[in-house]
Amino acid sequence: MFINGQWIQTKATFSVTDPATGEEIDRVPDGGTRETRLAIAAAEDAYPAWSTTTSYERSAYLYHAHQLMLQEKQALAELMTREQGKPIKAATLEVQYGADFLLWFAEEAKRIYGETIPSSRKNQRFIIHRQPVGVVGAITPWNYPVSMITRKIAPALAAGCTVVLKPAEATPLCAIALFKLFEKAGIPKGVINLVTAADPIPVGHELCTNKTIRKITFTGSTGVGRLLATEAAPQLKRVSMELGGHAPFIVFDDADPVHAAKGAALVKFLNTGQACICPNRIYVHRRILAPFLDTLCKRITAMKAGNGLEQGVTIGPLVNQEALDKVTNQVDDARAKGAKLLAGGTRVMEKGLENGFFYAPTLLSEVTPEMLIYSEETFGPVAAVIPFDDNDDIIGMANDTEYGLAAYIYTNNINRAMRTFEQLKFGMVGINDINPTSAAAPFGGIKQSGLGREGAKAGLEEYLDTKLAGIVLS
Ligand code: ADP
Repeated sequence: MFINGQWIQTKATFSVTDPATGEEIDRVPDGGTRETRLAIAAAEDAYPAWSTTTSYERSAYLYHAHQLMLQEKQALAELMTREQGKPIKAATLEVQYGADFLLWFAEEAKRIYGETIPSSRKNQRFIIHRQPVGVVGAITPWNYPVSMITRKIAPALAAGCTVVLKPAEATPLCAIALFKLFEKAGIPKGVINLVTAADPIPVGHELCTNKTIRKITFTGSTGVGRLLATEAAPQLKRVSMELGGHAPFIVFDDADPVHAAKGAALVKFLNTGQACICPNRIYVHRRILAPFLDTLCKRITAMKAGNGLEQGVTIGPLVNQEALDKVTNQVDDARAKGAKLLAGGTRVMEKGLENGFFYAPTLLSEVTPEMLIYSEETFGPVAAVIPFDDNDDIIGMANDTEYGLAAYIYTNNINRAMRTFEQLKFGMVGINDINPTSAAAPFGGIKQSGLGREGAKAGLEEYLDTKLAGIVLS
């Protein structure tokens, strides 16, 4: 753990394993309430000095961290593949994406502008000033173990906040590696603190209920997000929540079905389907269903599951047994209710992979609303295709979910694209685009997918309070 600029060991440790082999990679300190309080106290002590540095100084630290991160790209990517399982190419892309946030917020730090507002009184002036919200508690998930950390820490530091971070118990090594890099960048002691823990509950509880923490930023499941927001509510702490999704992917009959299927294959199997923006319901117009399924099936059967450090592997393991059970249950349920299995459908038990949590890339068609996969987030490598016809209310079907994170539309008709974009109740919509994400663009959901935005100018606002001065001149 990293508290007040010191690396701390504890007697108790917990094991970090490689999800491709089940083997232990390392052990890390197991923190709890005590360490969280120490970390919060360190962040509180560091706050007065850090929050009054100039934005140019804070920007310089972030630029430095960005350079170091690019230098360490390969090593960080290899560590991520071992700890989290995604193929090395995907891990390298994630490190780049993670570094992008350091650069973006190094730049944005210098643009924390205030405002002046005209008054109806002749001798009055209004001035708006922006100030950091205070000490931030951050909790991050295992599926993007590097970029979800920089997406929170970079804007928090740019704004002038100090931070206590708790990474996911499955991926603390990536967090430790990042903090070593921040330390090397010279970020002053106490400004960022890291508490690793096997049991997230006491740490999460302390972060949400400790009066010093003024903001909670969380990425993870909707259930846990709701719990943390509830715990933080009595003190009316600011919260940002990036939660689950259930993305519709709509292919209209005027779209190129082959192009759309290629896109679906890429975004559905991103991180073995373990991304909150992965499509969960792929709606395809019946008129173009055959060529769409043909291309998607070919792409899926060509995917190679295995250890992400090996050449040619495109599908990594799922995170754990629970994830494997959930996927198996959804596929079995869909098949029992009449879905057609066109590819995959089983756990991968090839020699060498039997101890990892591998599930074969799977294609189901004729999926219907009665099936679990139609409404439950899958978080696994299963493409569920739902054919639709002219008389179906496709927008209503797409919106019929408690989630509202990402949605995708494929069409070559500009009117249809704009109307569908406007009517979909989701925070991010890809229009003939499977990657509507960037450090420069606001990422986030509506409904049960969350509150607040990360990245972009909006990502910095989350860490700033608005302060007004009304001045009467004599
Ligand atoms: P996922 O389904 O992506 O694993 P989780 O919401 O379980 O999502 O985990 C995301 C993060 O939330 C992790 O850092 C995890 O340790 C943390 N977490 C899980 N449960 C709790 C809890 N009850 N209190 C605080 N943090 C939690």
